[in-house]
Formats: sequence, structure tokens, C-alpha cells
Amino acid sequence: MQDRNVAKTQQAPKSTVLILGDQINRDIASLSGKSPLETRILFVELGTKVQKKEWHVQKVHLLLSAMQHFAEELRSEGYEVDYRRADTLRDGVSAHMDAFEVANVIAMEPMNWNGKRVLEDLNVELVKNNQFLCHYEEFAKWTTTKNKFRMEDFYRWQRKRLDILMDGVTPCGGKWNFDHENRERPPRDGREWPQITFFENDEIDDRILQDLDGYWGAPPKGVWPVTRAQAHIRLDEFVNGALTAFGPYEDAMLSKEWKLAHSVLSSSLNIGLLHPREVVRAVENAYTNGDAPINSVEGFIRQVIGWREYVWGLYWLWMPEYKSENFLDADRPIPPSFLEQGETDMSCISRAVDHLHEFAYTHHIERLMLFGNLALTSGINPQEMTEWMHSRFIDGAEWVMLPNVIGMATFADGGKMATKPYASGGAYINKMSDYCSDCVYDPKKRTGDKACPFTSLYWDFLARNEKQLSGNPRMGQQFGGLRRLSDLGDVRTRAVDVLAQLDEGTL
Ligand code: SF4
Repeated sequence: MQDRNVAKTQQAPKSTVLILGDQINRDIASLSGKSPLETRILFVELGTKVQKKEWHVQKVHLLLSAMQHFAEELRSEGYEVDYRRADTLRDGVSAHMDAFEVANVIAMEPMNWNGKRVLEDLNVELVKNNQFLCHYEEFAKWTTTKNKFRMEDFYRWQRKRLDILMDGVTPCGGKWNFDHENRERPPRDGREWPQITFFENDEIDDRILQDLDGYWGAPPKGVWPVTRAQAHIRLDEFVNGALTAFGPYEDAMLSKEWKLAHSVLSSSLNIGLLHPREVVRAVENAYTNGDAPINSVEGFIRQVIGWREYVWGLYWLWMPEYKSENFLDADRPIPPSFLEQGETDMSCISRAVDHLHEFAYTHHIERLMLFGNLALTSGINPQEMTEWMHSRFIDGAEWVMLPNVIGMATFADGGKMATKPYASGGAYINKMSDYCSDCVYDPKKRTGDKACPFTSLYWDFLARNEKQLSGNPRMGQQFGGLRRLSDLGDVRTRAVDVLAQLDEGTL
């Protein structure tokens, strides 16, 4: 009798758990309570992504390597794993269903809007995504109590309800925000910045790399963790080696330093190797143990439970319309200076493109105040900008790039997210970096051949978009400045040249 029951169980079709490339964690909700006896695993390597040669090679390697390492991990637990390549997710799931007798297909909700629609169409059973501390439905509920969805309000709400960095009902250190301590100029003393481990390739990596020909960027050098164990090493390195310096220098830029004291944990968080809860707790413990100052700890925690979760919530709240917003009718293509190394005399952009080429990464100020700022003031199309950032940055994903580009960098949503455009001239870059000292342009000049393109374009941007922006109460000072400019005609003449040179790749 007992034997007959066992035989019956073994013959019953298994369920399939589909694991997506950004769900690389044993604790994802779709694997909860599952066992190899009744569950098969499906991974689909997407040809539509893998074959895009304009993607950074380190990003393609990371996605494939993390998936293949996780597939091995699950095989070693006894799971039958169907790891297949297909042009699309739809093709991959359909081919799997044809190849196996499948009871049902289960997946955790995808991170992106389109992926969710595809899986719903295929009748895949979706379980709630558990990779964030605030699910987007919870975020949507939070917005129903607000007229304006300010990040600061959301962040404080998260701190209180999750009891993170709280001393009872008051914030640790007595304040919610220590930003004013976190705007130090870059030190010019040639100091050493925290070192990170460069992980060695294994057989899986070597096999993947053999097939990755013709992609953009420098080959992988082991910077980006592909397993959870590597991601933990990187987390420890940040907490014990870089966290203290992170806060003061989080906005600083140095031409010879690609990461300064940034955590470089974003790719591990975005593909699921690390959960934000464990990252935040490790950082909070460093403060509680007296190993890191409050300004660094609060600044980092704000990025993770504030900004990161806020953009995830807004993405789901406003998709799909949000994707095509273009409030300022910006239609310039991505300039050659962003696309290849050595294509510009602008020292800041040139160095940032070098960082991007070498590491598939620049830190948030280089993204916002260099690439984003130039995209905004020159009028680069926000959809093209999103696509470019998605393809070149190691941590790029639609949910994170869309709000950051459409909302934050290019003001393409007309102020739904940011209260004003983040436009700035060369003075800010000169203050916060060492780029201008060896640049052919002068950040203080706004007219003439040596004028800093950022400075000329800043004023031209205000003049060009006065109709759409002058009613913004937070921009009164900027437009006051514009009206006082005695040489606006010359500035705009210079801006015409700058824009033409930007398009030609001769700037
Ligand atoms: Fe960049 Fe202008 Fe400074 Fe040159 S002068 S590095 S273009 S901000």
C-alpha cells in the first residue's frame, strides 16, 4: 500500500518555478515551501537581451553568470533544472511546457511591468514579489493619503514602520537627515580609497566569456558579485572598510577614482543576491556598535529604504504611461561623447565615460550631474536616455532607470516626481570634482569658444524652456538670474554652437 502511494507521487507531473534573471536568491517567494520532489526549475536566458551588442559586456556577463551559478546551486539541492535560451520569455515558457509534463508554472512577480503582463498572458501563477521592504501595492496605498508623494515623507514612514535607525519614536542622532554633513568637496591629498576584492572567474564564467564577443566596454574583471557568497564579501567590505567615508564624500567626483567610498552593492541588490533588509541591518549595526558615524549610516540607509524603494513604488504606480512622458519635447539623440571613449574634450564627460567603459558603473552624482544634467540641458530624448543607461550600467533595470531618467534627470514627467529640474552649470561640477582643472573649457565662462558647455547650456536651457518652467515656484531664483543676464544673446549663440558640436561629436 505504502509503495503504491510513493509510485503515484513520483508519477504526478511536477510544478515549474520560473526564476527570472533578477530573482537570484534562495529566499524568493516563489521557492518558499518548495522541494525537488514536486518542483522543477526553469530559467530562460533571453536572446533579446543577450544578443544586444550595445549592452556593456560586464552587464551581460553578470546576468548570465548569476543565473547559471544559481541554477547550479539549485541542482546541487536536487532540483531538476531546465535552463534554456529563447528569444523571448514567452517563447521560453512555451517551449518548456512543450518539453515537459507540467502541472502548473509559478513565478514571483517580475520587476518590470511588461514582464508581468507577459506572464499573466501565459497564465503563470504569480506570487507577490518579496525583494523590497515595501511592496508596490503597499506604496500605492501610502500615496492615497498624500497630495504630493515626497520621497522625504516616504522615507520617514519607512523608518518608523520598519523600525530602522530609530530610537523609540525619534530618529537616531536626533534628526532625520544629515545631508548637510555629506556634501564635502573631494579631497585633493591623493589618499587611498577603500579597496574591494576582485573575484576570480570560475569555469562557468570562463565558458560564458568565450561567447561574449563584440559587446561594448572592458571585459569583466571580477568586480561584480555573481553569487550570494561574493555579494556578502562585498557587503562586509563596505560596512567595515568604506562606510565611514561614504557619507562625507558621497557627492564628490574624482577623475582617477571610479567609486570613491560608494558601496557598489546596487547590482547585487537589483538582481536579488542581497536583500535590502540584510544590507540595511548590517549598516545599522555598524552605527549601533559605534563603528560608523550617523551621517554616513543615515545617508546610505536613505538611499536604500528611501530612494530605491520610492522609485520602485512610483514605477508601478505610473506605468505604463510614464514610460513615454516627454514634457519638454526633448528629441536629441544620445551624443557620440556618451557612446565611446575619447570622443569629447569635456574632461568631466570623458572621465565619466572612461569609468563607465571600465566598470559599467559611475556613481550617482556622475549619473545625475554629468550625464543627466547634459541630457536635460541639451534636450536628449528621455526614452533614448533611459535605454542607453539601462544598457550600459551594471545595475540598470527598467524600474530603476525610468523614474531616475524620466522623473529625476530630465524632468520629462513635468514635475510629478522632482519639484524642479536638476539643471546646473559648470560651477557645481567644478566645486564637487577635480575635472575642470585639466579641461580645455572654463567653468566660469558662458560665452566664447572656451566657455564650459554646461554653463552655456544651463542658461540656454532656461531661456529655451521658459514657457514650460517659469511658473514653477521653485525656479524663481533661476529665472531671476536669467533676466539679469546682460549677455544672454551671446550665451545663446554659444549654446547653438555647443549643441551642433555635441551632435557632431566635436565638442
Ligand atoms: Fe566639465 Fe565644464 Fe568642467 Fe570642462 S569646464 S570639466 S566641461 S564642467
